[in-house]
Amino acid sequence: MMIRNIWCVGRNYADHAKELGNEVPSKPLIFLKAGSSATVNSNIIEIPYWAEEVHHEVELALKLSSHLHVIEGALALDLTERKVQAEAKKAGLPWTLAKSFDGACPISSFFMMKKLDDFKDRSIKLWVNDELKQEGRTSQMIFGFEQLVDHIKTYFPVCQGDLILTGTPAGVGPLRAGDIVRAEFEGEMTHTWKVQWQKKPTEE
Ligand code: ZN
Repeated sequence: MMIRNIWCVGRNYADHAKELGNEVPSKPLIFLKAGSSATVNSNIIEIPYWAEEVHHEVELALKLSSHLHVIEGALALDLTERKVQAEAKKAGLPWTLAKSFDGACPISSFFMMKKLDDFKDRSIKLWVNDELKQEGRTSQMIFGFEQLVDHIKTYFPVCQGDLILTGTPAGVGPLRAGDIVRAEFEGEMTHTWKVQWQKKPTEE
């Protein structure tokens, strides 16, 4: 399955904004992950060899289908190289490498989301090695589904097949080789991944 643009919203759960020392935004903070960083319905997360501190961020992904309506959703991991991101933030530089490396957006398979109202108070959770790390409810989002979709459609050239990642609740943290990551969107989807780290290429 081809994923085109991945529009992400930062700091959409107040408790996560606080844990990274960020202010709660007054309008959506949108950034991009490359569509080609998505891996759909794989059970492996492959981390690039150069990455040192890759954090999990579990999020609900909305998929824009025909007529740019949301009719499907999925679990997504907005993987983030936190060290690279912190350095970029400090220097006032873009976050692209921290958010858009190869494999930075693992996605589960898709489930139907025809009536958005049915999904406005569901839990989203993530476990690492059976330890609950992240937990939130979609009702805690600062900007709700319609607001986010409207905002992104207003300002950006959205396409059919694009994803919107709706933000992560608190509890983000680093992944290690061999970790088993399980994510759940209440009543719809669970997905499990095993973390692998690429070996550094040897020089000829
Ligand atoms: Zn995120």
